[in-house]
Amino acid sequence: MTTTPPAPGSLTFTAPRRQKPPRHLADLDPAARAAAVGELGEKPFRARQLSVHYFDRLVDDPAAMTDLPARSRDLLVEKLLPTLVTPVRQLECDRGTTIKTVWRLFDGAQVESVLMRYPDRVTVCVSSQAGCGMNCPFCATGQAGLTRNMSTGEIVEQVLAAARSVSRGEVPGGRPGAADRIGNVVFMGMGEPMANYNAVIGAVRRLTDPVPDGLGLSARGVTVSTVGLVPAIDRLAGEGIPVTLALSLHAPDDELRDELVPINTRWKVTEALDAARRYFDATGRRVSIEYALIRDMNDQVHRADLLGRLLTERGKGWVHVNPIPLNPTPGSKWTASDPRVQDAFVRRLIAHGVPTTVRDTRGREIDGACGQLAAATP
Ligand code: SAH
Repeated sequence: MTTTPPAPGSLTFTAPRRQKPPRHLADLDPAARAAAVGELGEKPFRARQLSVHYFDRLVDDPAAMTDLPARSRDLLVEKLLPTLVTPVRQLECDRGTTIKTVWRLFDGAQVESVLMRYPDRVTVCVSSQAGCGMNCPFCATGQAGLTRNMSTGEIVEQVLAAARSVSRGEVPGGRPGAADRIGNVVFMGMGEPMANYNAVIGAVRRLTDPVPDGLGLSARGVTVSTVGLVPAIDRLAGEGIPVTLALSLHAPDDELRDELVPINTRWKVTEALDAARRYFDATGRRVSIEYALIRDMNDQVHRADLLGRLLTERGKGWVHVNPIPLNPTPGSKWTASDPRVQDAFVRRLIAHGVPTTVRDTRGREIDGACGQLAAATP
């Protein structure tokens, strides 16, 4: 399965048609789980038992499901808990507290997820597509093109794998007494989550539904990051799940953003920002503006001024900016801004009254930082 690199500026919205991943418990809401179990000739209450094993006890060894009779267990595990993701490689840095995993999917496509443990919280960065069709020239994933959409189960399994490994005590770095649980999931791995809307919203529901229907995460702990697919942002605002929205802006003017974030040729800076503001109005969640600082491209003080004006024109208290020093990607001619230039950019935004915090970028040494994920696809 190969994907040809996209021509500069081209966008791919529709993933190539491929065989679907096997159905998984995590694809289904509770009613659909009961129905699926019934179709297999089992009592509907087995659906809840399976959900408890999967989402609450984080069991992945069928032998541990001792409340299920052996025959039912084999059938239910085969039909509803198929293996969706298989680790190919794990790379660690930050003394084992940042772990990137390359996963192989059922059809050979590969994706990556990154687990980051901090003293008081654990964050997993997940992929929502194999590859990406949005073609941002500074992002390694964008340069590879779109292989296919991931299923809800494939997305959720990245989080569950991380949750199991944290709960088994395999990930160092927590403060003594800190919970061995995932608190944050960010859709900032490979792919454009809003271009795979249905699977992503399914995953968001599984992550935020209370245990044992789902993993029981707080919606505010889930961040969906997008290049700015305006209709999908509005749709997300109407779901009634107040996840955090991150908008990858990277430039405040259309001329530069057309080049850096090609979706801008469809939805302009002001349209993306208006949608972000509507998202805040609908959910009360402060929106994050992502801004990779690229030396001599988008890091000028006049751009900080323009960004500050565009944000404050739309009100106060609804948004904050996360500048990120550009992470290096293979073959790219761009590099991160000079630290003094970065400071000046940040100070100017703060002078406009816009809360601004430079994002720490973990995982650079293992190509696990923002924009560096590019698992080879066979
Ligand atoms: N497609 C979505 C989800 C990916 S999130 C989106 O773009 O928002 C990955 C984040 O890292 C985005 O904000 C992206 O713009 C940013 N990014 C991509 N390449 C980067 C790089 N080389 N250095 C720093 N950030 C980068």
